[in-house]
Amino acid sequence: MKQYVNDEIEKKREYTRNYYYKNREKVLKIREEYRKNNKEKISLSASLRRLSDPNRFEKNRIHHRNWASNNKEKISEKNKRWRDENKEKRNANAKLRYAINSAKIMRPNICSQCNVECKPHGHHEDYNKPLNVIWLCQACHSRKSPRTVEV
Ligand SMILES: [Zn+2]
Repeated sequence: MKQYVNDEIEKKREYTRNYYYKNREKVLKIREEYRKNNKEKISLSASLRRLSDPNRFEKNRIHHRNWASNNKEKISEKNKRWRDENKEKRNANAKLRYAINSAKIMRPNICSQCNVECKPHGHHEDYNKPLNVIWLCQACHSRKSPRTVEV
């Protein structure tokens, strides 16, 4: 039974393939039309498909790792640019980290905004005052600043 089903599927696939090769132009045109008219539907169903894939994190990680190993220069360039553009931020975070490690500052164990128990991030309103931070959980912090930097 299973073999039969597989054969049927294979046959169908073969047929679709042949049809595609013979009518490529036509198929592509129809597809393009369909895409144009159903942009929202397509992006929704594509994202639903991605979200319903239980291996999506693993796949994503592999994909990213492959991309990263082929784009080492791009990455180190990007990192360097980020470091240059975020000197103040890095300085402030380094000073804060040092203060925490040397027990000059105590990191609380709750978020000061939503009171959830966590290891909150120190959020700087002003990088010139590195020890002046608001303690926020990851969720509250990412709502505050688009990029979260762990301290
Ligand atoms: Zn919070």
